[in-house]
Amino acid sequence: MKSISHVTTPDSREDPCTFLVHGGRDPQRFAGLVNTPVHRGSTILAPDLETWRERSAGEPFGTYGRFGNPTTRSLEETVAHLEGGYRSIIFPSGLAACCHSLLAFLEGGDHVLMPRSVYGPVRAFTQRVLGRFAIEVEFYDPLAGGNIRDLMRSNTRVVYVESPGSWTFEVQDIPAIAEEAHAGGAIVVMDNSWASPLYFKPFEHGVDVSVQAATKYLVGHSDALLGVATARESVWPQLQHGAHDLGQTAGPDDLYLALRGIRTLDVRLRRHWENGVMLAESLLDQPLVKRVLHPALPQDPGHIIWRRDFTGASGLFGVELHQMDDKVLRALFSRLKLFGIGLSWGGFESLILPYDKPAPGKDGGPLLRIHAGLESASDLIADMNEALAFAAASA
Ligand SMILES: *Cc1c(COP(=O)(O)O)cnc(C)c1O
Repeated sequence: MKSISHVTTPDSREDPCTFLVHGGRDPQRFAGLVNTPVHRGSTILAPDLETWRERSAGEPFGTYGRFGNPTTRSLEETVAHLEGGYRSIIFPSGLAACCHSLLAFLEGGDHVLMPRSVYGPVRAFTQRVLGRFAIEVEFYDPLAGGNIRDLMRSNTRVVYVESPGSWTFEVQDIPAIAEEAHAGGAIVVMDNSWASPLYFKPFEHGVDVSVQAATKYLVGHSDALLGVATARESVWPQLQHGAHDLGQTAGPDDLYLALRGIRTLDVRLRRHWENGVMLAESLLDQPLVKRVLHPALPQDPGHIIWRRDFTGASGLFGVELHQMDDKVLRALFSRLKLFGIGLSWGGFESLILPYDKPAPGKDGGPLLRIHAGLESASDLIADMNEALAFAAASA
């Protein structure tokens, strides 16, 4: 099956916003329809034996549904272009994409460096699964920067980065880490879900494989689970073959929802960014709040690197509260009307969750993660102020 992007993909000088609208589409190929339709199918028939042989000898695409169809290709090509990588491959969830991007490059006896701030389920995978295959997993300080050099060993194959870190929002010096990783013969795998491919260009900063939990901002509407991994050309074959060996694939309806979400990624993200910063700023002088963890705030420890390497911020940030009785926290949650209590983020709606594990710091209080949705910022701030005042009064 031929690549479809050559018809409508604008050239690389084009602004990403324009690409979001036009990329990965080819209406004339699909009866003039603006959107690439949902393609269903496992069996793909060849017209004759010669064609079958020809298809089987080349790329697996177009030989069987598991390797994808035009809906899959459309999403893969769109994400690859946005991330600035060579090619992308789809996974049924963000977690599957993260885990596979490690597994594809590791074997028994290897050493892998994972940031302590890594997304919890990925941490669990490295410990429970990689550990069983005699792969040595070592956790490092996400702020190590170029000092990662001291942890590199002759058998270090992968240095994993996630910036900012899940829950704790440390901004990593990825170019410095990548330089040392490459000098030591390792590749860099990044979880780039927070910034999305719009606000962080992984391949310009030394990353070799970039993962999107597409469930978050690419889908953008909390109605599908999906992951995408994108690679540089040099590591693409290893990433792709490994995924095929494990039978990684995703359903066409979910692929369609991601493609549809991507068209509005720029306008949604601008609002998430603005709402997140306004809400974070409003929390700074709240008496119950000890610290706001948001790299776009000038006082944040990660701000300088964020400004250097990122072109925007998403709506996800953290808040550390002062130590408090659990009844105060319960009062706060009971009063919030616009913030749902639930996992995930990146949809249009606002969310809040406590971080159950011990917060960093000696006298740390509860840690909260907030996703600023697309509501009006003043409504979100008013709702939060009201709930915080109610909670403070219940102390
Ligand atoms: C949610 C999330 C994932 C996993 O995505 P799923 O689609 O839920 O499996 C990976 N990384 C980060 C940073 C996430 O927030």
